[in-house]
Amino acid sequence: MAETTEKRALLSFTQLDQYLRCPLKYRFIYVDRVDPEFVPASLIFGRGIHAAAAHYFRGIAAWARPTLGDVQGVFESYWDLETSPRAVRFWKGSKAELLDQAVKMLAVFHAAQDPATEVVGVEERFTVPLIDQATGEILDPELVVVLDLLERDREGLVVADLKTARKYTDRVERAPVARAADSTILERCFGPGWIAIGDAAVSYDPLASRGLVGALSSGLEASSLVAAPEGRLADWQAGLEASFATYRAERARLQA
Ligand SMILES: Cc1cc2nc3c(=O)[nH]c(=O)nc-3n(C[C@H](O)[C@H](O)[C@H](O)COP(=O)(O)OP(=O)(O)OC[C@H]3O[C@@H](n4cnc5c(N)ncnc54)[C@H](O)[C@@H]3O)c2cc1C
Repeated sequence: MAETTEKRALLSFTQLDQYLRCPLKYRFIYVDRVDPEFVPASLIFGRGIHAAAAHYFRGIAAWARPTLGDVQGVFESYWDLETSPRAVRFWKGSKAELLDQAVKMLAVFHAAQDPATEVVGVEERFTVPLIDQATGEILDPELVVVLDLLERDREGLVVADLKTARKYTDRVERAPVARAADSTILERCFGPGWIAIGDAAVSYDPLASRGLVGALSSGLEASSLVAAPEGRLADWQAGLEASFATYRAERARLQA
């Protein structure tokens, strides 16, 4: 699986994943190449940690183990460079707090590495053909894959995927959580140039099994309503309120 030398269209897993999750966002990012209003600090943070780890492993591969200061320095330079010229949105901590967190994370990372492990490849890039499962046709774009780290330990080759986000473990390990699912109706479901639809306008007890139909039907109505005169919108809101009152009465009857 050598890296391709021809100019072929390449797709990454991130691109495919993005397309499947939200084709419109895919279009904004990869087709229209719209400049985002801001870059999440978590993205820069993750890339900086990757760059620092890659620096460490490349050093190991070249038989010159980088010091902790070197590794932290790579992050710090990346962090300074990438957070300075553009709009960055910080959620969990300021620029300085996140830098401090990265420095601590990299200290744990550095101490945990076994310098005797053989590094076979760092950010190894290769391509695989994409095959239409239904027809067997080999599609034009190839899938480009980057392995964070390929190493050999006592048991053989190991592919390591470095993660800084907690999402995956959160999903697997967190205990079930309780969330409110109240029945609500918005006091005012429209205004100049906007209307609320779906759960944003009216939400029902999930047990009632009517939220999806309500969301879809109000979505269909929305296109003709959004620019409608205020009187028609007021009638529409009155209709929602009447239907909600019927729902509440029915729910009270069933729960009695
Ligand atoms: C546990 C549970 C079980 C349910 N079971 C049923 C059922 O069996 N049958 C049924 O009909 N209904 C059921 N419902 C209700 C149904 O899921 C909802 O009524 C329906 O999904 C509402 O659709 P919606 O498009 O209005 O909102 P949502 O499905 O909530 O979609 C809104 C989307 O907007 C996104 N969003 C929010 N803020 C922003 C922002 N600022 N920028 C960009 N995106 C944003 C959200 O992430 C979300 O993806 C259930 C609900 C729950 C909670």
